Amino acid sequence: MSYSKKTRRSFLRTIGLSAIVLAATPFSRAATIPDKRPNILFIMSDDHASHAISAYGSKVNKTPNIDRIAKEGMRFDNCFCTNSICSPSRAVILTGKYSHLNGVVDNLVKFDGSQQTLPKLLQQAGYKTAIVGKWHLKSQPTGFHYSNILPGQGAYHNPVMIENGKSKKHTGYVTDLITDSALNWLRKQGSSTEPFFLMLHHKAPHANWEPDKKHMKMYSDKDIPLPTTFNDDYENRTSQIKNHMLHVGPTQWKLHFKRFGSIPEGLTEQQTREWVYQKYMKNYLRCIASVDDNIGRVLDYLDQSGLSKNTIVVYTSDQGFFLGDHGLYDKRFMYEHSLRMPLLMRYPKHIEPASTTDAMVLNLDFASTFLDYANTPIPADIQGRSFTSVAHCRTPENWRSAMYYRFHEEAYGIGPHEGIRTGRHKLIHFLYGDMGWELYNLDKDPNELQNIYALAENRKLIKDLKAALASLRSKYKVTQ
Ligand code: CA
Repeated sequence: MSYSKKTRRSFLRTIGLSAIVLAATPFSRAATIPDKRPNILFIMSDDHASHAISAYGSKVNKTPNIDRIAKEGMRFDNCFCTNSICSPSRAVILTGKYSHLNGVVDNLVKFDGSQQTLPKLLQQAGYKTAIVGKWHLKSQPTGFHYSNILPGQGAYHNPVMIENGKSKKHTGYVTDLITDSALNWLRKQGSSTEPFFLMLHHKAPHANWEPDKKHMKMYSDKDIPLPTTFNDDYENRTSQIKNHMLHVGPTQWKLHFKRFGSIPEGLTEQQTREWVYQKYMKNYLRCIASVDDNIGRVLDYLDQSGLSKNTIVVYTSDQGFFLGDHGLYDKRFMYEHSLRMPLLMRYPKHIEPASTTDAMVLNLDFASTFLDYANTPIPADIQGRSFTSVAHCRTPENWRSAMYYRFHEEAYGIGPHEGIRTGRHKLIHFLYGDMGWELYNLDKDPNELQNIYALAENRKLIKDLKAALASLRSKYKVTQ
């Protein structure tokens, strides 16, 4: 009996104390106690392929600052986009929904900013939100306390930027200016008690690949090695990979390099392709060198300001890119170099340094993941899945074993296609031209040179993959 009385007294004391603490919380928190939820710094460049990052084993360049994020965090080896093109990937990231549901199926559609988005949800949860740099969604940003964006594609040199709706012309190089703007905003957060979500979006290294003065002569005394598939003859493939305009060569020169004059005369067809490849790659990599330098500035600032410990730092790109692979440049196709996104993530409290994962994650998952880290409910209509457990080296047993891809646009001779990628296979259905199918065994043929769709021995496999593709279409509410 005495034990019960004591327990009861103790319980009442506890309740009383809790009541005082609870009553005091709103005042104390607003005045002095910082919100311990993590800050999220989302750095995204435009068209930066993972095979141009040394942390991913690049054979063509070094990216020491981007590599710091990998050394101090996780490298995701199988991050894929659901629609490999600029505006659509950005809309998927903002909404956590496939293109057919968020509305931005191609680069021509205006993003409907009245819909539910990640920054709006974080804002409602008490985050300070900002976007700096490339927006590329035609409508004005919504859900941000601060925005300073490039109009459309923006300019590499002396760009106009739109700060909270007001246009201003700047002097300097775009990658430096975007970084300056992001650092200024971070400094202004100072001792704010609220956590922040900052989207730092670089224009580089998107076409027309215009470097700054500092890196203009980089690589001028060396040749960039050709990728092993540069001379792919497209045997066994559908007509799509042959019949479009995005091959490295004279058409690329005409579209993107007019400023340099003409291609030298007297070169053979092969020499011309290789000559254009060198010009393309050197300028592309010079733009990346500036991105890397500027990421170093941001990481240094986080260290100096004491923000590193409680800030999740993400580095990614809106999709992959062909670096002469299959003789191509650009993206769009479901082939690996275009489908794969770089994804590095650092969060000292929870992510092990130098960890890696081959679990399949998607740009579709980013919204859920950041909401999860922000301890904020994930709305049921968001289609992505939080990968925080993957990032913490505890991948659930029921993690996805296949992803659905859908490209909607028809431009440069590349048309709509869809497909499924599992850990081992990829099945692509071109819904354009000859409406053909392609099947690859990624274990045996990681470069996707052998389309094995027509082989009789693969009939059962194809039937199973088509059933899985239909199931993913149904899961993601694809009706067309
Ligand atoms: Ca892009």
